[in-house]
Amino acid sequence: MWKNRLYTPLSTVLRRTLRSFPQHFTPHITILPRLHRASPPFAPSSLARLQFFGKTFCSKPSLETCWVCRAAPHSAPFLVCDSCRCIQPVDASVDYFQIFGMERKYDLEGENLEGKYKGWQKKLHPDLVHSKSQKERDFAADQSARVIDAYRTLSKPLSRGIYLLKLYGVEIDEEQTISDPELLAEIMDIREDVEDASNSEALNLILSQMQEKMQNWSNAFSHAFQSQNFEEAKLAIRRMTYYTRVIDEVVKKL
Ligand SMILES: [Zn+2]
Repeated sequence: MWKNRLYTPLSTVLRRTLRSFPQHFTPHITILPRLHRASPPFAPSSLARLQFFGKTFCSKPSLETCWVCRAAPHSAPFLVCDSCRCIQPVDASVDYFQIFGMERKYDLEGENLEGKYKGWQKKLHPDLVHSKSQKERDFAADQSARVIDAYRTLSKPLSRGIYLLKLYGVEIDEEQTISDPELLAEIMDIREDVEDASNSEALNLILSQMQEKMQNWSNAFSHAFQSQNFEEAKLAIRRMTYYTRVIDEVVKKL
């Protein structure tokens, strides 16, 4: 059982970890969502704080205005109308980071992702739309599901890293098996340790070792990604995928 699990291609874990990507993903880097394209260039860091002025967008077609009151958005992302509070249809060009008003980056310390997630869920809560049209209830369900996906993806280092790479056009080969001799040798050792672990103390020791390795490779991913060394970043993801799998197995045995 262990052997099979440990040598399973990355695809198994990736499918579990990465629930879904929008079908429209393109490999090029698109920092600006659709609403911003007519604006002059600005630093991505200012994206979340950028305010919109009604007059700028009044002449634009309907997709960029509220589907109910036709008001232009005052801020990005446009999930809920600022004027009439109606929930808008999902705009798939808005990525998960933009949903939470964050830059596309790996280290999210201090970003209060959970607080931002809870903030959206309050605005999209079914109780708010139970008396509204079926259309708006459908929009609310779609937006809520997408915000949940976004939160789940960004809240875990492994899925966040894979998602970031995907946004930058870097695909993880889901069918690739592990061929790195060093990692293979390490896998053999860890497998033996897990098989030999006869009590919770031994399992907890393995768990803390795996968590430490996970943290080290997470740091490695962070550095590689910041310097746009995507090959190194992919290596780190491979390691993190493996250690995540071991952690899951150990937790199950505890
Ligand atoms: Zn409106």
